[in-house]
Parts: sequence; structure tokens; C-alpha cells
Amino acid sequence: GQEVLTAATVDALAAQSMPLCMKQLHKGLQRDHKLKHMARLQYGLFLKGAGMSLEEHTLFFHKEFTRIMTSDQFNKEYSYSIRHMHGKEGKRGSYTPYNCMKIILGNPPNSGVEHHGCPYKHYDDANLSALLGQLKIGNASEREAIMAHKRDGNFQLACAKHFEVMHPAAASLEGVNLDGVGNHPNAWFSASVSYHN
Ligand code: SF4
Repeated sequence: GQEVLTAATVDALAAQSMPLCMKQLHKGLQRDHKLKHMARLQYGLFLKGAGMSLEEHTLFFHKEFTRIMTSDQFNKEYSYSIRHMHGKEGKRGSYTPYNCMKIILGNPPNSGVEHHGCPYKHYDDANLSALLGQLKIGNASEREAIMAHKRDGNFQLACAKHFEVMHPAAASLEGVNLDGVGNHPNAWFSASVSYHN
């Protein structure tokens, strides 16, 4: 499998190894060819934490954003904040990727327009259930187990269950570190990538 997160590999790695929140941000970016402020931070910092370089991050966002704006506009309005996220502008190193608590307790997204947040927390039951089905996450009873956690308000357990369903026997594989799955999107991602390698 692929390991290094670049503009060229991000599509495949989003499908293979991103938790639901980041899959939705990726899909939103591809659909709208831009992301709003909160989404750029949540997704951008995740990508940085997952090892995407400043150059690849800029390349990836430039490729999407310039479907609906000029390169000049992108450079003026967005590239500074990307450099900033990577500690190249302003106060260095001030941005760390968000953990699940921060995302779950943060401002809820304006649905249909904003793509940040945690789907387990911020989607209603019908939307979440439809999404799990669309993404073919597990079978009907596995999806119901995820939904049961959501209905109980155990959003992070729902997310950990999603991981478990998509990565059978992960706990018995050498080199797969499950610490933090359900607590941090970057832990979910790196555990999944190492599972697939
Ligand atoms: Fe993302 Fe965490 Fe929500 Fe999972 S529980 S979807 S990793 S914010």
C-alpha cells in the first residue's frame, strides 16, 4: 500500500484510511473545490499531522481551489494560511492537529455548507446511517452497532467501532498501534495505514 501522503496519493489514502470526519472533508473539498475556514483548519492540520509536506499541501489545495478561482486569487487568499499552519509564517508551531474532543465540542457545521466537525456527533441518525451505507462500512449488523453507540452519545466509541469493522484482527497484527483510535483522527489514520502496509 501507499504510505506517503501527497497530492497524488491523498485520494486513495482518504478512501482507504481516513476516519469519517476527514473523509467528509475530503469529499467536500472535491465537491466544492474549496473549504471554509474551520474546515481548512481541521483538514489542513490533520494532513500536516499525517505527514503531508507544505509543498504537497499547497499543491493539493491549489489543484482543487483553482477549479473555481485563479491561481493568483489562491495565492493571495489561501497560501499564507497554509504556510502558517506549517509554521512558516507568524508564530511558529502554534497549530497542532485537533483531537476528537476538540472537534466534537467545537462549533457545529452549518449542514450542507460547512464540512468540518465529527459526523458521529453532528449528523442526525438518518444522515449518519445513510452515509455508513453509502460507504459500505461493514454489514447491516455492524452498521447497527455503530449507530447504537451514536444514539447513546458515545461518538468516539462509534468511531472506534468503525475502525474495528474496517480492520479485522488489527489488534493481533504486529506494528499496528491502536492507541488513540477513537481519540484522535491522526491515530486512526496512522493505525489504518500501518494495517494496510
Ligand atoms: Fe473524526 Fe474523532 Fe469523530 Fe472519529 S470520533 S469521526 S476521528 S472527530
